[in-house]
Amino acid sequence: MKAAIYREFGSPDVLGYEDIDDPIAGPGEIVVEVHAVTVNRVLDCAVRAGEQTQRGVVLPHIGGVDPAGIVRDVGIGVSNVSAGDRVALLSRAPCLDCEHCAAGDFKKCSKSTMLGVGRWGGAAELVKVPASVAVKLPGNLEFAEAAAVLRHGPMAHHLLFDTGNLQPGQTVLVMGAAGGLGLTGIQIAKAAGATVIAAAGSDERVAVGCEYGADFGVNYAKQDLTEAVRGYMGGEGIDLVFENISNPKTWPKALKCLRKLGTLVTAGAHGGGKVELDCAFLYHQNIRIFGSTGNTDKNVSDTVSLAGEGKLKAKIEKVFPLSEAPAAHRMMEGDVLAGKIILDPTAG
Ligand SMILES: [Zn+2]
Repeated sequence: MKAAIYREFGSPDVLGYEDIDDPIAGPGEIVVEVHAVTVNRVLDCAVRAGEQTQRGVVLPHIGGVDPAGIVRDVGIGVSNVSAGDRVALLSRAPCLDCEHCAAGDFKKCSKSTMLGVGRWGGAAELVKVPASVAVKLPGNLEFAEAAAVLRHGPMAHHLLFDTGNLQPGQTVLVMGAAGGLGLTGIQIAKAAGATVIAAAGSDERVAVGCEYGADFGVNYAKQDLTEAVRGYMGGEGIDLVFENISNPKTWPKALKCLRKLGTLVTAGAHGGGKVELDCAFLYHQNIRIFGSTGNTDKNVSDTVSLAGEGKLKAKIEKVFPLSEAPAAHRMMEGDVLAGKIILDPTAG
């Protein structure tokens, strides 16, 4: 098979387009013909640059954390999928070796690795994974769409409902609205009957949030976020802040948009991570703040259902053939993008 394999860390030019041996499915494993995989700033580009060695990356390496494609082969003992099934692959791969895996309780695996980081991923024509990471896709959901939607959808779903307890009719402020997590959060909240306010740091990014369903948008680089949100709410606060940037300037402003008993949920700190907390506001207003990662099977299946129904769409910036992986990485490392970059190994 062809693979965007690299044998040393460095610039996008270390990405090869080489023939290597096809993987063979062992017990409990499947081999999937990859039709789409996303390129991510940290999990692909920073890993390739050698900036994420603490994640257990071993050279030579093949990235690609969230492939989608068609099952080609299944190993002994696999019953959840068959050859020919259209699937997306979840990133957290169990070891198939520990006591939990032996008992079939893959979610509890103590030695799980991340696809495309701690083990070879989907930037190749074929990828071998434990069968338990495969999620069947509805026939109308395209592979690029599935890969992009499943990158952020389950976590957004988890944050909104399991962590934030979002209810129909409530109002949620989505920070970083045009980012992957933000855009999925907007759509999932809208599909659940919430009112959604999209906040981002440029007019263009706010417009993207509104295009994907937000009822109102705020450019927090130009406007006072708290004033704009409270103005839209007729002076009242909102129920939920969906945070994922942790910028020291915007985080305190977002918190102050909350009503009494409001909740802030967060998963992400690329905007700095250290923020100031007004504890008087926190306790007087009975505010709750939750950080959370991860997702459940229900978060995943609901994400796939919403995408299949057309209620959850990814913003795809560009699809590159696998042979152009260096260009795809360069694009991701370049300008600020609002959409996902995809590699399609079936396109050459
Ligand atoms: Zn295990």
